[in-house]
Amino acid sequence: MAENLNLFTSTQEVIKKALQKLGYDEGMYELLKEPLRMLEVRIPVKMDNGQVKVFTGYRAQHNDAVGPTKGGVRFHPNVSEEEVKALSMWMTLKAGIVDLPYGGGKGGVICDPRQMSMGELERLSRGYVRATSQIVGPTKDIPAPDVFTNAQIMAWMMDEYSRMDEFNSPGFITGKPIVLGGSLGRDKATAQGVTIVIEEAAKRRNIDIKDARIVIQGFGNAGSFLAKFMSDLGAKVVGISDAYGALYDPEGLDIDYLLDRRDSFGTVTTLFENTISNKELLELECDILVPAAIENQLTAENAHRIKASIVVEAANGPTTSEATKILNERGILLVPDVLASAGGVTVSYFEWVQNNQGYYWTEEEVNEKLLKKMVEAFDNVYTVATSRNIDMRLAAYMVGVRKTAEASRFRGWV
Ligand code: NAD
Repeated sequence: MAENLNLFTSTQEVIKKALQKLGYDEGMYELLKEPLRMLEVRIPVKMDNGQVKVFTGYRAQHNDAVGPTKGGVRFHPNVSEEEVKALSMWMTLKAGIVDLPYGGGKGGVICDPRQMSMGELERLSRGYVRATSQIVGPTKDIPAPDVFTNAQIMAWMMDEYSRMDEFNSPGFITGKPIVLGGSLGRDKATAQGVTIVIEEAAKRRNIDIKDARIVIQGFGNAGSFLAKFMSDLGAKVVGISDAYGALYDPEGLDIDYLLDRRDSFGTVTTLFENTISNKELLELECDILVPAAIENQLTAENAHRIKASIVVEAANGPTTSEATKILNERGILLVPDVLASAGGVTVSYFEWVQNNQGYYWTEEEVNEKLLKKMVEAFDNVYTVATSRNIDMRLAAYMVGVRKTAEASRFRGWV
C-alpha cells in the first residue's frame, strides 16, 4: 500500500537524520534501515464451513542487539510487509525512548477478524504461533496485542506456545488476562502514559492542567481512558470524536456520561444531534490537542489552522512530515507518537518482568514505575530537542535509536 511504503520510507529518513546527528556513519544506517529478520508464513486454518483457508502472516525483528525483540501482532485486512517492517522499527525507537532492554519487533496476519468466528480466530492465533515458533519466545521475541487482537488471543497464543515448549511460558507474550499472568494496569497503560506526557508538556508551556482545554480525536481504548484521566485531573475536555463525528462543548463535556453511553467500538457521537465533523474538531480553540484515532490527520492543509499550543500524538502517525514542519515553525510543542504512546510497551515490559520473577505487583506499583519511566523519557527527549534546537520528533528518534546503535557497535556488528 502506498501510504505504508510512505510510513516505512519516512521512518527510514528520520532514523538516518538521527544517526547522522549522533555521529554515526553510513554503515550504522545500513544496519538499522531494515529489520534484521523478516519471516513470512502461510497459515492453514480449518474454517467453520469445513474448508481450509490459508492466511499470510509476518513477523519482523528489527534489531536484537539490546535484548529480545518485542512488539504486537496485528490482525487486519490491510496488514502488509512494509507496514510490519516500519512498525518493528518504531518499536525499537519506543523501547529506546523508555529505556527497556528490548529491540523492536512486530507481527501481523492479513485477515478480517470481524468476519471470523471465535473458533476460527482461535485456530488462526494458534497457527500463527506454530508458524513463527522458530523465531519467537520469551528470550527471543515477545509478542503483544495490537489492532484487532486482544487478551483472549494472547491467551490462546500463550497456551499454544506453552504446549510446544512443554512448559508453562507466561513470559512468551504480554497483554494476557490477569489470571494468566497479565499485569494490572496494562489496559490503561497507553492512556496513562499519554496523561503523564501531557502533564510534562504543560509544565514546559506554563499551562495549569486544571485550566487547560483539551480536544481528543478518537474515543477508543486510548482516547476514552485519556478523556477520563484528563477530566479527573480537572481539565476541561471540550471536544471528543469517533469515526462518525465529533462533540464540542466549550464548558467541558461530561466524560463519565459519554463513557457510559459509548459502545464497544468506541462510538458515541451517533447518539447526539449537535455534532461537528472530525475536521472541525482538530481546529477547535483549545490548549492541548490529542489525535488518538488514526494516521494522517494533521496535514499541510490544516496545520496552519491548529489553535492548540501543544499537540500530543497518542495515535501512531497522525501527523504528516509537512505538518510536523509547519507546527514546529509555528512554535507548537509537538510530542511525537514514539514518545507519547510508549506507556503500553512499558507496562508490557513490566508484565514480562513479573512473569519472569513469578511475583506480581499492585496497580499502584505499576503506575508508580510507569510514571518514573515516562517522566524520564519526556525529560530526555525535551532536553535533546532544546539543547540541539531540533524538533521533538527528531530528538525522540535520536534518544530512541542510540541504545540499539551503541549495542550493535559493542557487539561488533558495525
Ligand atoms: P480503538 O480502535 O480502540 O479506537 C479508535 C477510535 O478512533 C474509535 O473511537 C473510533 O471510532 C475512532 N476513529 C476511527 N476512525 C476514525 C476517523 N476516521 N476519524 C476519527 N475517529 C476515528 O483504537 P485505540 O487502541 O484507541 O488506538 C488509537 C490509536 O492509538 C491508534 O493509532 C493506535 O495505533 C494508537 N495506539 C494505541 C495503543 C493502545 O494500547 N491502545 C498503544 C499505542 C498506540
